[in-house]
Amino acid sequence: MPRPIQAIIHQSALRHNLAVMRRHVPDSRIMSVVKANAYGHGIENAYAGLRASDGFALLEVDEAQRVRALGWRGPILLLEGVFDARDLELCSRLGLWHTVHCDEQIDMLAAHKTHVPHRVFLKLNAGMNRLGFTPARYRAAWSRLNALPQVEEVSFMMHFSDADRYGMDASDTTAVATPLAMFQQVTQDLPGERCICNSAALLRFGQPQQMGLDWVRAGIALYGSAPDYPHRTATDWNLQPAMSLRSRIIAVQQLQPGDTVGYGSTFVAERPMRLGVVACGYADGYPRICGTGTPVLVDGVASRTIGRVSMDMLAVDLEPARAAGRAAGYGSEVVLWGRSSHGTSLSIDTVAAHAQTVGYELMCAVAARVPVLVE
Ligand code: PLP
Repeated sequence: MPRPIQAIIHQSALRHNLAVMRRHVPDSRIMSVVKANAYGHGIENAYAGLRASDGFALLEVDEAQRVRALGWRGPILLLEGVFDARDLELCSRLGLWHTVHCDEQIDMLAAHKTHVPHRVFLKLNAGMNRLGFTPARYRAAWSRLNALPQVEEVSFMMHFSDADRYGMDASDTTAVATPLAMFQQVTQDLPGERCICNSAALLRFGQPQQMGLDWVRAGIALYGSAPDYPHRTATDWNLQPAMSLRSRIIAVQQLQPGDTVGYGSTFVAERPMRLGVVACGYADGYPRICGTGTPVLVDGVASRTIGRVSMDMLAVDLEPARAAGRAAGYGSEVVLWGRSSHGTSLSIDTVAAHAQTVGYELMCAVAARVPVLVE
């Protein structure tokens, strides 16, 4: 038998979350962002749940090839464009759209001998200072691209740095107003499609502010994590977890007052209690920082980790589940995040907060050794 840990990918949740996003931007087309192997869910595992998307957005040509191999004939956008001129040939062959964010990428296109013209998304740097042309240089970049015979269509793109930040209240648009105004000003009389929103922007401002535009790029919310946690939770947004990380108890220990648990003896029992040792550790992608007090579900009942997380194991408190009348013993199910088979749920965002990080990082960090079940 393999170790009992498993990542379960819920395709019905992906379908549900995509439908939720559509309701927020009914007039826009949705590119599902499946970079980083679909945020750790596996491109092939997520595909069936996301095939109702209007397009896919990802980073690497390899990932695009995997999406094409699944039978997808629709749009695929390379979010950072090409890294090397040789990728342009593959873009033509695979029919990929690609982002252009710097002069070097325009030089590559200008030198490229192609029979298939390219569709590119010209990226504005609206203050994030990661990728893109500043407003002062954007229109010159557009003119250069527009004059190239290698380019068939230029679309306009931007990425918000702060769409998850709250101002005075939930409808306060301060966090997005400045970059949005920059984008509108610099592109206002240029012909072409527009694509600016990530999950936070489209959920919060897609409908009321009409910010959806032609395309949106939806990532984290599709996977069931709230982009603006803790202001709002996944439940508030009606999102369902697309991944559950589950394991089982492989040993039980009875503690007496004064007994300690795990490396460093950081937990000391104050009263008699039982703990369960779970087949899940930091080598599975569970954060080591999630020592004593991080929420887990034992036999579907809310409990907590105790002591330090080690490479292959962690310990949980069995008392809450026993008090609720559950067996809570050898073989019991432990949910690290996601849904239990008892119908209860633990948000990845809650666990991420205990790890001083975000749901994105936890999903992406699930280790290759964790077996995946798609349902
Ligand atoms: N667009 C770009 C350029 C991104 O880098 C990302 C993700 O980081 C997204 C869209 C999707 O963002 P989110 O997962 O917050 O929806």
